[in-house]
Amino acid sequence: MAEMGRAAVFRGVKEPFELAEYPVPDPGPRDLVVKIERTNICGSDLHIWRGDTNLASMGLTYGIVLGHEMTGKIHALGGKVRTDSLGQTLKEGDNVVYAYYCPCSRCLPCLKGDQHMCMASLSSPVRPCEMPPHFLGGFADYYYVKGRQAVFKAPQGVEPELVAGANCALSQVIYGLEQANLQFGESVVVQGAGGLGLFACAVAKEMGAGKVIAIDGIDARLELARSFGADEVISITEMTDPRARVGEVMNLTENAGADVVVEVVGIPEVVPEGIRMLARGGRYLEMGNINPKMTYKADPSLLVGQNRSMIGVSLYPPYTLKQALDFLVRARHRYPFEKLLSHAYSLDDIDNAFQEADAFSHQPGAVVRASVVP
Ligand SMILES: [Zn+2]
Ligand SMILES: [Zn+2]
Repeated sequence: MAEMGRAAVFRGVKEPFELAEYPVPDPGPRDLVVKIERTNICGSDLHIWRGDTNLASMGLTYGIVLGHEMTGKIHALGGKVRTDSLGQTLKEGDNVVYAYYCPCSRCLPCLKGDQHMCMASLSSPVRPCEMPPHFLGGFADYYYVKGRQAVFKAPQGVEPELVAGANCALSQVIYGLEQANLQFGESVVVQGAGGLGLFACAVAKEMGAGKVIAIDGIDARLELARSFGADEVISITEMTDPRARVGEVMNLTENAGADVVVEVVGIPEVVPEGIRMLARGGRYLEMGNINPKMTYKADPSLLVGQNRSMIGVSLYPPYTLKQALDFLVRARHRYPFEKLLSHAYSLDDIDNAFQEADAFSHQPGAVVRASVVP
């Protein structure tokens, strides 16, 4: 009888996950089957679980396996797979990281070389898990990596919990800050000190930011933001008036405003406040508001009159994942990355993991990311 593996099937908004068993597939000639070591619960997993995100708008449906911030060991290699995307030899048992999206290579953005903008990048790797190869999400024992997904051997000496976070959160902020054209010595405001925000503080510093200011409502996260490179923090529970917070950013930037403001809160109301914090010529980097039809009252003159711009960034080119892994290797002793992951749950306990991660996201505490370990 074929070897079986478990997958936590997402059946509906806040419904219990169904722990189903499927036969572990053999990989196609250019594919891999990975035994998952760890999958973090990302903010977007929570959005989907809570029903904030319309799955259909992403080309997805119920009956799938969620989870994309993951890492694992090679369980089986396709007959034609010899190396990772950088030419390093691969063998069974090697720890690997892989882009969780799968570019189709035939849509217009793919033809232009913008694989992260692929029109089928998210829907193509995910399909109902009743259908082979079954394992197309991170909350499972196995994951099926298709040949078109970039694969990298995990760096030696970096813990799986860190490597898993490279996949979404870290790569996202690296690419976002590059797209915002952050320059040496510029000032950066980070709205939201969750997983993405903390990485954003560290990456902005590493890219040469002169001053990094983190804004959040949870003291423990603001403390953590300081150890991730924030020079200044603003607590929205202490400073409740948005105008006062804009004034504070002006004070902290010699009345110039911030050159880059990074939105990783995921709440539209913070956008006008963040735009007001920008310097003339400043760039507003929008990455957190991924849910359709959530809006804010906009005054476009705030952009036009001061030559400010707004940049939306979703996903990242596969090369960014390599940059993220390299960054973890060289910076792992400079920042307390281990504090980003505070709770680990078994796959059997996934309902609890989601309920608690959801509660943590609204409550004081230092919990930034929970993860599931099969
Ligand atoms: Zn495409
Ligand atoms: Zn994510």
